[in-house]
Amino acid sequence: MSFTSILSLLLTLFLASAPAKAPAQDDYTVPFPAFRIADNLYYVGTKGVASYLITTPQGHILINSNVEAGVPLLRSSVESLGFKFTDIKILLISHAHWDHNAASATIKKLTGAKYMVMEGDVPVIESGGKSDFQYGNDPDALYAPTSVDRVLRDGDEVKLGDAVLTARLTPGHTKGCTTWTMKVKDGAKTRDVVIIGSPNVNPGYKLVDSKVYPGIAQDYERTFTVLKSLPVDYFLGAHGSYFDLETKYTRMKAGSATAFIDPAGYKAYVAEREQAFRRELAKQKGQRTNAQTATPSNVNLAFENQIPAWLKEMNVPAVGIGVIEDGKIKYAKVFGELKKGAPSQQVSPSSTIFQVASLTKPIVEVLTLQLVSAGEWDLDEPLAKYWVDPDVQKDPRHQKLTTRHVLTHQSGFPNWRYMNASKKLEFLSDPGTKVNYSGEGLEYLRHALEKKFKQPLDQLAQKRLFQPYGMKNTRFFWDASVDESKFAVPHNAEGKPYEIHVNTTANAADLLLTTIDDYSTFVLNVLKRKNLSQTVFDEMIRPQVPYPGGKNLFFGLGWMIMPDLSNGEYALIHTGSDPGVSTVVVLFPKSQCGLIVFTNSDNGVKLWTRILAEAFDVGKEMLERG
Ligand SMILES: [Zn+2]
Repeated sequence: MSFTSILSLLLTLFLASAPAKAPAQDDYTVPFPAFRIADNLYYVGTKGVASYLITTPQGHILINSNVEAGVPLLRSSVESLGFKFTDIKILLISHAHWDHNAASATIKKLTGAKYMVMEGDVPVIESGGKSDFQYGNDPDALYAPTSVDRVLRDGDEVKLGDAVLTARLTPGHTKGCTTWTMKVKDGAKTRDVVIIGSPNVNPGYKLVDSKVYPGIAQDYERTFTVLKSLPVDYFLGAHGSYFDLETKYTRMKAGSATAFIDPAGYKAYVAEREQAFRRELAKQKGQRTNAQTATPSNVNLAFENQIPAWLKEMNVPAVGIGVIEDGKIKYAKVFGELKKGAPSQQVSPSSTIFQVASLTKPIVEVLTLQLVSAGEWDLDEPLAKYWVDPDVQKDPRHQKLTTRHVLTHQSGFPNWRYMNASKKLEFLSDPGTKVNYSGEGLEYLRHALEKKFKQPLDQLAQKRLFQPYGMKNTRFFWDASVDESKFAVPHNAEGKPYEIHVNTTANAADLLLTTIDDYSTFVLNVLKRKNLSQTVFDEMIRPQVPYPGGKNLFFGLGWMIMPDLSNGEYALIHTGSDPGVSTVVVLFPKSQCGLIVFTNSDNGVKLWTRILAEAFDVGKEMLERG
């Protein structure tokens, strides 16, 4: 999926989630001369929005009350034709959108007319627009809730005197969108009138997998079937623009008696609108298809506005966030304070230094996998060839231990030897038989790598990983080049700073110092498989062993793997946690997307889970799973 198609998808989603503003159309209250269309049917609307009056000796039917501000115009239009406004006995609408029905309550009050509305639109009308599937939260689209006196269904007739109107359900635009038909006499001839409710798919309407209007696409299909089946001579609609009111009115004034008789125009209009619907449907279906097969993990950056409030609410001093989308660093920012109570520090994604706890491990793991890719290291060779820890020298199990065991957390070691009663390194289980998350395993690997390559880890990483990947601000330990004023000091849950732990040697499992820019660059290169062979990459992302206690959760090489996400993706995950540090990296390799969050707080998990849930369409699903 290209960057631009992701972008257009994002825009679509944006439109779908943000209520499109009801357009304040200037011409809705621009007067238009009232006139007779045919027989007892009159146009009494404005330039922008149509109303029709059907007159009988027993009173009148009005279709569309329109906008509240248009009531005086409507009244004078009716009166200009020689009819009494108060003789309106029945009020109908084209569909439950404010531009056609906002003044209904007022008109009912002024005339005592009975309000008759198609079933699907009734709840919307009676809620004043609040229950509308698309515009319910748009204050500009709301109006006075109005009680409906008769609920109509498809094919129902509305009769007054000798006038008969038939209500045809043409849903989609609204659930009860109504196309009115009637017959008029032209001298000796009887002609068919069609007043189209609306065949339009508004901007932001979701035609596929709509939760607010399931079946909307089928409803539009039905509408086009109905519209194409109707006999038509007089082509009319809810807006004059549907049938080119102004041009036809001008022709009529110039003497044409048949200006509004336009079956060809009707056909062309319906066909064009159907095409537009089909194009939009195909576009939205295509996006859904991609979402399931090409598996983009849609990134939503709207969370950014909430970050300052969340930092406060969760008592987290600082957060660094990196977002990777479609194989690019889309976003890298740092928010908040590096140290509470200290004068404000420079916070920039390229200079703020975070200690990232166990996010150290992916660095060492990927370095190792690069060496495997280059044929300089073997995943399944016993590490004893290069290194034996003195603590386990007498335990023969050390001869079995391999890099694969370490990277899948099956070394058999505890997380840290100091957690053992003896404080010495011990095998808790045979290598390769049991998962136990272990920093000691990574340290064991470090010793072996350092022996084989005859250099300390930091130098090996510098040469083989940081330089080729373009990482400029990543270090395993504190040295003179670290600017402490740019360090995000770890804080406890109460927001008190911890003493800075200044390590001066590399630990392969912990304490890496890096920036959000650098780490984003790192994982982007991993996603791009830079210096990783396809075979090694495939091993890295292969679920090698179930993650204890997790449901459908695994360790690959280094990464935790969450397969079978609902969008067809799988996720590579690593978290980090130290006193005052909480970090996470989540990668979606198929769609080349990812999220990196660093925090300098014991409260950081709350924050990164919130960001994950907000930023990715599958974020909530991931949190529910594990
Ligand atoms: Zn509408």
